[in-house]
Amino acid sequence: MAGLTLKNVEKIYPGGSVAVKDFTLEIDDGDFAVLAGPAESGKSTVLRMIGGLEDISGGSIYIDGIRVDDLEPRERDVAMLFRNYIMFPQMNVYENLAFGLKLSGCPKEEMDERVRETAKLLNLADILDKMPDEITELEKHRVAVGRAVARRPKVFLLDDPMSHLDKDSALCMRRGLMNIHKKLGTTIVYVTENAEEALAMATKIAVIRDGALEQTGIPSEILEHPANRFVAEYFGSPVVDFNEDFEEEEA
Ligand code: ADP
Ligand code: MG
Repeated sequence: MAGLTLKNVEKIYPGGSVAVKDFTLEIDDGDFAVLAGPAESGKSTVLRMIGGLEDISGGSIYIDGIRVDDLEPRERDVAMLFRNYIMFPQMNVYENLAFGLKLSGCPKEEMDERVRETAKLLNLADILDKMPDEITELEKHRVAVGRAVARRPKVFLLDDPMSHLDKDSALCMRRGLMNIHKKLGTTIVYVTENAEEALAMATKIAVIRDGALEQTGIPSEILEHPANRFVAEYFGSPVVDFNEDFEEEEA
């Protein structure tokens, strides 16, 4: 069980810029949570605070009910995938997938089983002996995802991983991720600016603007019952009369 809780989390960067304000979010074990919002809204900051790459300025973070905001990143049992992933150039696909497991001292047989299972889920089983310069960009991307999930982290964090892919590749990766989520049940926190991507993949969406949470809910709730005009416009809600419903929301 690996739920994730953020309680009144804040981030004030040195220099005084307030990036995240009073951010409270409950993500259940096995959720595919998508943190969606415009550029500069604080998405990466939230993700980096969960992963421990950024200190929090206030509040608390729990994984599995255990407070983690004082723990080192590697003690939190999370895996992160960033936009600029790399494959180890001198290792083949199998060795890349096995890398984290090896480091953590996983027994050889179990490692082999997990690598092959992960490869199957990401459609990499036929290219396990290929070197990085022998495979496509999309395959490299899938290897990076595989490397992160092969050691079965409690929480898998992805920071806008599809934004630089073409449409077909992004759809392919989307299927791969949803496959992984379905088969492994890993709790995922996925950051994107893309509303359509959020609606397509999430079991729970958290909408962020200017460092503050605007609304959380399952995709249909967000779409059909947006909490305010901003959310409605961001997700292109079809049923909303902006003028009547949200007059009080206007600044
Ligand atoms: P997003 O990922 O939604 O684009 P970020 O979390 O990167 O947003 O940024 C949120 C806010 O925090 C922005 O105003 C950004 O300029 C600021 N910010 C991000 N990183 C730093 C940093 N290292 N130092 C100071 N300000 C930062
Ligand atoms: Mg970002």
